Amino acid sequence: RLKVEHLSRAFGGTPVVDDVSLDVAAGQVACLLGPSGCGKSTTLRMIAGVERPDRGRIAFDGQPVSDGSLFQPPEARSVGLMFQDFALFPHLTVAQNVAFGLRSGRDERDRRVAELLERVNLVGYGAKHPHQLSGGEQQRVALARALAPRPRVMLMDEPFSGLDNRLRDGIRDTTLEILKEEGAAVLLVTHEPDEALRMADEILLMRAGRIVQRGSPYNIYNAPADRAAAAFFSDIN
Ligand code: ATP
Ligand code: MG
Repeated sequence: RLKVEHLSRAFGGTPVVDDVSLDVAAGQVACLLGPSGCGKSTTLRMIAGVERPDRGRIAFDGQPVSDGSLFQPPEARSVGLMFQDFALFPHLTVAQNVAFGLRSGRDERDRRVAELLERVNLVGYGAKHPHQLSGGEQQRVALARALAPRPRVMLMDEPFSGLDNRLRDGIRDTTLEILKEEGAAVLLVTHEPDEALRMADEILLMRAGRIVQRGSPYNIYNAPADRAAAAFFSDIN
């Protein structure tokens, strides 16, 4: 479970993330949805531990990872990361990429890698190198790599935006299935309403650093809080 309370961060006196609170249960997907520049990535970076909050608290499964006095670095947090440009290591094989974050002994590591390659439908790809894979296949390797150490919290920042339109819906669906099986609390950042509607258990609509509305995809789509929220959804079909 991911719990964030009153998170704030300013750059050069301008508030970029302004009193953001959210709560994501294990096995749930929350989508942070909003226009470019509203503070989505900054929020995610603070939860990951690569950006320091000015104020607020972050806890994973009830354990604080960041508050007034404590700031755990990313490697001390049980967090999986997936970004649009979060590239695979080109000199490592697929299996070595997936194994990268695993500290366990060899047998258990090999078991976990095999299990994940099966889950992302890449059995037989373990010995290949990333350049021998399509974009969609590379994306699935990145997902397997992020999930391998069984993170409590999975953070995804526009993970599908580099993909071909034709592939994207299918990959969203399979990604969602795998995330549900693995059971982490997932926070997915996107500026695409159709992606949030398709994947989220809860949508958090963000504007100018603040969460302006939250609810199920059904409720947000059918009862947007204001004109700006309605306009945001109006160009999808
Ligand atoms: P996008 O959809 O375009 O990725 P976003 O919602 O992820 O946008 P952020 O990357 O969080 O937006 O940025 C929010 C604002 O904070 C932007 O105006 C950005 O220029 C500013 N900002 C982010 N990081 C820094 C930084 N390290 N120093 C100064 N300003 C920053
Ligand atoms: Mg961003």
